[in-house]
Amino acid sequence: MRILLVEDEVKMASFIVRGLKEEGYAVDAAEDGEKGWEYVLLNEYDLIILDLNLPKMSGMTLCSKIRKKELNIPVLMLTARDSLEDKIKGLDQGADDYLTKPFAFDELLARIRALLRRPGDLQKAVILESGHIKVDLLSRRVWVQGDEVGLSQKEFALLEFLMRKKGEVVTRSQIAEHVWDLHFDPMSNTIDVYINFLRKKIDKGRSQSMIETMRGAGYRFINQ
Ligand code: CA
Repeated sequence: MRILLVEDEVKMASFIVRGLKEEGYAVDAAEDGEKGWEYVLLNEYDLIILDLNLPKMSGMTLCSKIRKKELNIPVLMLTARDSLEDKIKGLDQGADDYLTKPFAFDELLARIRALLRRPGDLQKAVILESGHIKVDLLSRRVWVQGDEVGLSQKEFALLEFLMRKKGEVVTRSQIAEHVWDLHFDPMSNTIDVYINFLRKKIDKGRSQSMIETMRGAGYRFINQ
């Protein structure tokens, strides 16, 4: 899952980026509202974390621009101020949730997970299951036929993305958009390499891979 963070405080931004990357998210960071807007138009994000007080364009303005464009991306607003008025204003501008600084990083992670749930996914919020594969998003553990397998962060992020889209064909560029960040080189064969790593770990004992190659189109996770 790919997240955009718009935050001008350097220390806060690097703390959040580092923490999210450790959790396996792909993260881009913008240091002002205008840059944030530019990134929103350029890339496909699964979630936006937005600071309220930003140079060049405020978090409120950016949030309302995102909503006016009818972009259906969950927005989590951050602010140093804990006033009810700000909270209501933020929610009125289309923010989906609100977190007051300072916050515990675990709380930020829990809110991100909640916002990334698809409607109707409430029961399965923490566990993804498909055939013989079970993924716990909270502890970031994976079991294949009941045996736990160790995945790297990127392998985990790739598996999560494919399983959330199971039954659908996903293109390499969609995978790059949601699993890697701005520094991804689209000319490299990184995605294919990671797909193969993943297959080796999850296809144990199967004659057909859980991840189908759709020639000229991309990949499809088998819907089981
Ligand atoms: Ca700020």
